[in-house]
Amino acid sequence: MDLGLKGKWALVCGASKGLGYACAASLAQEGVNLVIAARTRQALNESRDRIAAVSGVEVIAVDADVTTDDGRQRVVQAAPRIDILVTNAGGPPVGDFRKFSQDDWMRALASNMLAPIELIRMTVDAMIDRGFGRIVNITSSAVKAPVDVLCLSNGSRSGLTGFAAGLARQVARHNVTLNNLLPGKFDTDRLRSNNAQRAHAAGIAPELEAQRMIQTIPAGRFGMPMEFGQACAFLCSAQAAYITGQNLLIDGGAYPGTF
Ligand code: NAP
Repeated sequence: MDLGLKGKWALVCGASKGLGYACAASLAQEGVNLVIAARTRQALNESRDRIAAVSGVEVIAVDADVTTDDGRQRVVQAAPRIDILVTNAGGPPVGDFRKFSQDDWMRALASNMLAPIELIRMTVDAMIDRGFGRIVNITSSAVKAPVDVLCLSNGSRSGLTGFAAGLARQVARHNVTLNNLLPGKFDTDRLRSNNAQRAHAAGIAPELEAQRMIQTIPAGRFGMPMEFGQACAFLCSAQAAYITGQNLLIDGGAYPGTF
């Protein structure tokens, strides 16, 4: 299926690896030119070269921290226009809420709530003026089913989710959609590092912890990042114009509810 995106420009944040990279690579496969952002320049440049080589689209890499004003200015200004915005950054640390300070909470909010809101504020009106816009926030299954050790994620991402639900209805008539993608367990560095911490705390090998986690997933495996990226590309497509204000859980069936 042609997603009707050839020649569009996307800004994909947190795109040097993992889920952000997969979203960028999937959009590039559809002929979307990219600005990709992450903080570590070398990994980002390698990702830029890999995506450009296989897709032939224009890919601009901007090493920037999207939790800062300066970083956001630089990523937004790097593109001639932004038709598609994918917000993403690293997830907060795991731990019991008793051990987190107000500074820890401010960092989680900056990363997982305020940076996406600021990036949307900086781009949405131009999308409205052009009559096309697609905004996808990478959030977490923790928004739908809180994870005990991820209190910083449960709280901060729920704030973004509420904000997005309100804004989606205000911009829908301009062919600007706003949706959230909720990853369950995808095989990325983030998952491996969380796994290693859990295994360490339980005094078991990381491989055993991974097996324990997989047993809780009806699909019987972790998700592959490109499966996530392709769902993102579809949400950005011309065909998805009537899908807005939604929270799409991609978790191999792990969430046990009917809805
Ligand atoms: P990942 O493999 O650790 O990749 C994170 C990406 O974001 C990297 O490119 C990283 O590069 C970049 N990044 C981090 N902080 C940034 C910042 N402040 N500014 C710009 N770029 C930044 O993580 P992932 O697994 O793809 O996860 C992506 C998001 O989904 C995270 O918020 C994570 O918590 C959430 N999530 C993931 C899963 C999962 O199973 N993987 C499940 C639920 C939720 P630099 O470090 O170089 O900046």
